[in-house]
Amino acid sequence: MASIEFLITKIIATLGPATSRKEMIRELVEAGVRVFRINFSHGEFADYDLLVDHIRKVQEETGIYISILGDLSGPKIRTGKVIEGGVMLRNGDEIRFVKKDITGGAAGNELSFSTTLPSFIDEARPGERILLDDGNIQLECIAKEGSGEDAALRCRVVAGNLLTSAKGINLPESRLSVPSLNDKDLECVDYAVRKRFDFLALSFVRSGNDVRELKKLLTSYKVRPAGLDITGGDLGFSTLYDDDYIPVISKIEKPQAIENLEEILEETDGIMVARGDLGVEMDLAEVAILQKHIIRKCSEYGKPVIVATQMLQSMIHDPVPTRAEVSDVANAIIDGADAVMLSGETAVGEYPVGTVRMMNRIASKTNAYIKTLDASSEKLIRYKGPLNRKATMARGVHQMARDIRAKFIICWTNSGGSSVFLSQQRMEVPLIAFGENRKRLQQLSILYSITPMFMQQPDSGSQFISRINDLLLENQWAREGDPIIIVASDPITRRGITNRAVIHYVGERMD
Ligand code: PEP
Repeated sequence: MASIEFLITKIIATLGPATSRKEMIRELVEAGVRVFRINFSHGEFADYDLLVDHIRKVQEETGIYISILGDLSGPKIRTGKVIEGGVMLRNGDEIRFVKKDITGGAAGNELSFSTTLPSFIDEARPGERILLDDGNIQLECIAKEGSGEDAALRCRVVAGNLLTSAKGINLPESRLSVPSLNDKDLECVDYAVRKRFDFLALSFVRSGNDVRELKKLLTSYKVRPAGLDITGGDLGFSTLYDDDYIPVISKIEKPQAIENLEEILEETDGIMVARGDLGVEMDLAEVAILQKHIIRKCSEYGKPVIVATQMLQSMIHDPVPTRAEVSDVANAIIDGADAVMLSGETAVGEYPVGTVRMMNRIASKTNAYIKTLDASSEKLIRYKGPLNRKATMARGVHQMARDIRAKFIICWTNSGGSSVFLSQQRMEVPLIAFGENRKRLQQLSILYSITPMFMQQPDSGSQFISRINDLLLENQWAREGDPIIIVASDPITRRGITNRAVIHYVGERMD
């Protein structure tokens, strides 16, 4: 068992060639990763099989609960296969996108490339901008040629760079008629359900309807309850005791998603601020403001939020980040993100463990600073409309935790619902969620301040309190006299009625 670190902001690491070995995955967890992203845009199912096995073994070895987040490409267009080492596109070059499945850059196809959405060739208009690889390459569409399966799109390179396989293609000036889930996504959903992934992220969400489509599909797999649109503030956990429930995270990266943010928030279980494509599809200068706006909205709707992309980008090749990157991570935390995500830094970077350690240090310093700020009750998260019992309890516990300077918030959780509300209150105090539903413990690991831990169902509230008391002292997580707040149902064996908050001083006798 690894030593436990009580993290407030969670770190998500994208796995890739640099981090596919089990020992590496363990090192990343020990450095602070609590969620691994498997990006279905890269790699094969056989690769993912190994990653899932490694993650679950590391979870067993360390006793640290870890979420697996599958990232569906959705209506994101990417380049097809490109020769090993890529093709250098130079300013002024003329390139062609073709409908056929070819290897770009191979003999006979030196400047021709296939894409994951051949029909985009019919929809793109001459004169419009096409951006590749998060805007690193800029093209201007010149003309279409040929027809049917032989149709091709001629483009001029305006700003060149190296083009490799599976790089994003953005047409910021078009609204392409692309289905929210393509054939590959359908295979990936099937795979994620079979492998019992904890979350599914959907790229390029445009409206609430895109989210509904995925939820409908998950319902058909019986990993969302039929007829019940679970979008409540508790992530839907408490409406369902089924282990296989898969929440949906919507990636916000298109202007349409910003326009339809409220309806997406109504439908989705969580949000990812996918700044890579957001900064390509929208004015790059707006990304910081959009991040703040989206996070504020998530807090209003009680939905978890991840900030992603280029957080410590320079660490792909350098052992230390830039000062601007350090500030960026700190600001995402100050904005109120549940989790911050690494992409290329851990997938293909030279310093994956060093990057996670750095991110963890920034998070720890930033959260310690936030704790010193204004402790007024103004910070209590407000919910819309009349509150349910869990939300009301969470607001009350927040006030108590501030007043008594609680060292820990502890809760007993069956379905995870009450701990989700407690996490939303952003109490800056570690929240240990004890429970015996291992799947739910894995899922809780993505949320702000929650450290999930396994415990067999206690017989009574006082047995729960004395077990916690002993654990805190034995592990030296707390000292005699430290105030903690314990939240549970009364009786503790009843499910779904979180109705009890107890102030306990560690070491106090319970008989
Ligand atoms: C992004 O665009 O910021 C993102 C997270 O998506 P992907 O890594 O799939 O490009």
